[in-house]
Amino acid sequence: MNTSKPIISVRAGSKCFQPGIYALNNVNLEIARGECVALLGASGSGKSTLLRTLCGLETFSNRESEVLIQSKILQRGGRLSRQVRELRHLTAIIFQQFNLVGRKSLLDNVLAGALPRMPLWRLVLGRFTHLERKQALQALETVGLIDYHAQRASTLSGGQQQRAAIARALVQGSDILLADEPVASLDPESTERVMTQLLRMNREYGLTLVISLHDIDLVRRYCPRVVALKNGHLVYDGPSSQLNEGLLVNLYGPQATASLHGRSEELPIFPQTAIHGV
Ligand code: ADP
Ligand code: MG
Repeated sequence: MNTSKPIISVRAGSKCFQPGIYALNNVNLEIARGECVALLGASGSGKSTLLRTLCGLETFSNRESEVLIQSKILQRGGRLSRQVRELRHLTAIIFQQFNLVGRKSLLDNVLAGALPRMPLWRLVLGRFTHLERKQALQALETVGLIDYHAQRASTLSGGQQQRAAIARALVQGSDILLADEPVASLDPESTERVMTQLLRMNREYGLTLVISLHDIDLVRRYCPRVVALKNGHLVYDGPSSQLNEGLLVNLYGPQATASLHGRSEELPIFPQTAIHGV
């Protein structure tokens, strides 16, 4: 049994954007350091809202709710804690749209990951230290984009831009990376590259990953653990190797199982130890 404290802990998380309509309904979740967790669920099931509550971009609605990051309170009872700024640095988030500044170079975009740590005067002057530049270049090297560092972000492919967004998250120095459908707008080859990169961060640097994905095949190949949402309820939390047709039909409806067929003999791919992290 893994006795270490979870790096992410959600207790009794409910969210209502409108009275009585639950985007999330009493979600309880613990994630250990170094885990790679896929978040599954149909559109509107609450994936983005959950990811946003984990980094303090969204607050829960109920008094009993709580999000702890490394055992420190990020939000409790629907209010962000005073430590939120400090805790936000521990958590980076990337999105389907990479949110790079197109007219800026890749290096400048990646350096932006260092901004939350910078004192105001340097922020105003836009000055980065030698060390910050070195870290940004290293991050670009890690994601295989060093040759493009001077190029404008808008001139790169979607997959390259998403990898640059990962590099920016690396420079932020976070322990946790939340990825909200990071491959949804990418072609298959770029998807594999981005997923491989994310997994490398997880395996080699112990980065804790929570990724919302739609492709069941990707989930089974890359993520040992699955958390599934349906209408804001957490309906499954377990190994991806045990994802079965019944659950997928429950999540996505009868048409969703096509991606499951014909692949079951390839499983499981991950060693069980990976489920509890490094
Ligand atoms: P998913 O990412 O799984 O598609 P979301 O977390 O985006 O789901 O949305 C869950 C539910 O909450 C949906 O019904 C959505 O319409 C609603 N919702 C999400 N964000 C807002 C918002 N800012 N205002 C009102 N309703 C929202
Ligand atoms: Mg979403």
